[in-house]
Amino acid sequence: MPLELLTVACLSDNYAYLLHDAGSGRTALVDAPEAAPIRAALDAHGWTLSDILITHHHDDHVAGLAELRGAARVIGARADAHRLPPLDLAVAPGAPLEVLGEPVEVIDVPGHTLGHIAFHFPHSAMAFTADSLMAMGCGRLFEGSAEQMWDSLRRLRDLPGRTLICSGHEYTQSNARFALTIEPDNVALRDRAADIDAARAQGRATVPSRLSEERATNPFLRADTLKLQQAIGLEGQPPAQVFAEIRRRKDRF
Ligand code: ZN
Ligand code: FE
Repeated sequence: MPLELLTVACLSDNYAYLLHDAGSGRTALVDAPEAAPIRAALDAHGWTLSDILITHHHDDHVAGLAELRGAARVIGARADAHRLPPLDLAVAPGAPLEVLGEPVEVIDVPGHTLGHIAFHFPHSAMAFTADSLMAMGCGRLFEGSAEQMWDSLRRLRDLPGRTLICSGHEYTQSNARFALTIEPDNVALRDRAADIDAARAQGRATVPSRLSEERATNPFLRADTLKLQQAIGLEGQPPAQVFAEIRRRKDRF
């Protein structure tokens, strides 16, 4: 049975995710932006946290941790242990990990921060990408280089297309507007942008999203496609450089 997934809106535009295993009754949290809404969601379902997974050290992903952790096992990147809240399990990318009885792949996704990791649950077809791969976007390059972020995004792009991408923020509507400045003729993108507008008009979350739709519409995943390169006059350029140009444009958008 796949894990049950609950998206929890926190702060002004953050998301946390709750994963529940009906078989064992255990529950995991991915990122802890704010304690109160996560506590409320746990109480509404009668769930108790057994595990907390942290993607990166930024305050808007860990601020609620101290209040929520209780007896839960807190898991984060070994490389960032010095700047994360105290960890019960410090993991390195590629090392074996099991959460709620499922194998979890820890993927190195530097770029937004150097120690950012993503958690892939292959059996449940979910990947928790926070501020690396986002719905129609990617995180700002605060610490890493464009090359590093491009490599990170390619690692995520290689996951199965049906994978649900559970990212960290509700930035999708503005990401879609930006994406349309890059590829105005991309029909899949135009359709998705209209869907996003409708969802936001109704106050619905636009995450998680499906990796297959990110491949078709997210400009940051498309830096090595001829169509995108032609659209911005950079055909034949190294993909990392095309990615860097898209990121520069987004920073000014
Ligand atoms: Zn961040
Ligand atoms: Fe963030």
